[in-house]
Amino acid sequence: MHLPLPFKQGFAQGARALGRLPGMRLVSAPWRGNPVIVGYHRILPREAWLRYPCLHADLAVTPERFREHMAYWARAASCVSMDAVAAGTLPNRAVAVGFDDFYSDVACHALPVLEKYNIPAILYLCTDFVEGDPFLWWYGVDAAVNSGKASLDVRFEEWHFFGSLKYAWQRQNMFRRLSACCSRLDAPRQRAFLDCLGTTAHCRQPGILPTWELVEKLARHPCITIGAHTLSHGALCSLSPEESRRQMEQSRLHIEKHLDMPVHHLAYPFGGHDAAAQREYVLAAQSGFRTAVTTERGTNSPDTPLQALHRSIILQEHNTTVLEALNSGWDTVLRAARRKLAGQ
Ligand SMILES: [Zn+2]
Repeated sequence: MHLPLPFKQGFAQGARALGRLPGMRLVSAPWRGNPVIVGYHRILPREAWLRYPCLHADLAVTPERFREHMAYWARAASCVSMDAVAAGTLPNRAVAVGFDDFYSDVACHALPVLEKYNIPAILYLCTDFVEGDPFLWWYGVDAAVNSGKASLDVRFEEWHFFGSLKYAWQRQNMFRRLSACCSRLDAPRQRAFLDCLGTTAHCRQPGILPTWELVEKLARHPCITIGAHTLSHGALCSLSPEESRRQMEQSRLHIEKHLDMPVHHLAYPFGGHDAAAQREYVLAAQSGFRTAVTTERGTNSPDTPLQALHRSIILQEHNTTVLEALNSGWDTVLRAARRKLAGQ
């Protein structure tokens, strides 16, 4: 059933709220798993969202929302580091917090909150973001759908992207369709795709990326662990096995050389099953990573391979009801019900 985005979000919120009814937590508790792992990207004040609204809806939470989330985890769960996840010595109701891509706003907007609640967190660093010439195509995709045009009509290879951009939910849908396509292309084709959209200039955003100086400063902070997020943030499944391994292994060695400390943890770029699968899980283990996280929601248990850990990406639209659903197991129950309804 294809419903407009606002309807889907409304249904999802209603279903999650059911988990708060008396007795439901007892029902869902066996499905919680341990640990729950949550991932963030940018922590960005509302006024900074305006230029790339679709992207930031999928990538950022405000400092206020982040504070609300961390206050919830501090009182309702036991916050653990990824080292504890790797060691398997977890308290009940463990939650691990992390950030992908290491945008520099994490240092000013997330770190004070982590300090306040004494929450350990891991920052997954993409080394080309610090010293390479990163092509952040997702900013170009946002610029294409928010150019002020009433519709988009773009052909690229065998794809045809056509649709109205009048309403915010239509722009968000188009942003997600374009992003899903672009994430599966190799680097030269991504550049060709963005040329086609006419927004290549937006793909360079030096002001939001960290310096080695900032990485070193955070690496010394007692709340922070630095993890790897590959060299150039490509979808590993679309690369040759040799290149996929190089992306993981070299990013680890690169960070270790700069920080003079071991790097044990990896986050797969994009992280869905079409970006990292069995081959990457094996390569990650062979490349020396004790844990590796996906962006596949799901329950972690002692049987979950440490290089294929489930993780939920958290967005601004996620209020504490969403966190409660993750923390009570209700989210797992709902996903199983949805899969059953969809006949999967
Ligand atoms: Zn990433």
